[in-house]
Amino acid sequence: MFAQALQPQTVEQRLATQNRRMAKINISIMRDDRFALWSGFLSMGTIKILDKDFTARTNGIDEEYSLSFIETLTDKELAFVRLHEMLHKAFKHLKVYNKLYKQDAECANKACDYLINYLLWEADPQGKTIALPKIALFDAKYKGLNSKQIYDLLRKQKQQQQQQGQGQGQPQQGQGQSQAQGQGEQSLDEHMWDEAEGMSDDDKKKIEEQIDTAIRQGTSWQVRPYSRTSTTTLRRFASGT
Ligand SMILES: [Zn+2]
Repeated sequence: MFAQALQPQTVEQRLATQNRRMAKINISIMRDDRFALWSGFLSMGTIKILDKDFTARTNGIDEEYSLSFIETLTDKELAFVRLHEMLHKAFKHLKVYNKLYKQDAECANKACDYLINYLLWEADPQGKTIALPKIALFDAKYKGLNSKQIYDLLRKQKQQQQQQGQGQGQPQQGQGQSQAQGQGEQSLDEHMWDEAEGMSDDDKKKIEEQIDTAIRQGTSWQVRPYSRTSTTTLRRFASGT
């Protein structure tokens, strides 16, 4: 019996386990009043778990998750990553900030992630349903800013660091006044800007309509008094932040 228990699982078994877990995570998100308004986004596009070496990624409609990556996450961290990908879709990040991506991909990617991670943390500060994964970019100094404003700050900081680096022969790191986390090499997810841009106009239009419908469904439930945080965030969806 012990020998059987110690046998490594096949990839198929691991995928089945994680697919079941993902379904459980979706239910935990829908059961939380703060996130229930966003349910329209949960079933949007295709969601795949793949036995490949990456973390998570979205092209603005579909989501893919690495099997070995999500196996390292707790249920609450996985719920966080699921909502993170969902918010990229809801904010139409890969369309709205395509110009910024072309100007500075690193800053555009980080700006979108700082915004989403702050909003998610703010929506559930007690960690009832979600928990910030260790590799997620987070900095409370970005409170109240939109992705473009965060992008401008990151660009300025990067340019200053480059100038100082040139002057002193080494880059200045960790000089910020705030507490930032997730600055390591690994990133929480990939934003598939090129794939999003390469879609047909027809597909882009369909995606946009699906997103707008999900936002309308969510905002039409605003009367629920206990959903104030979700409502605020949904209003920001509509303003394109
Ligand atoms: Zn992201």
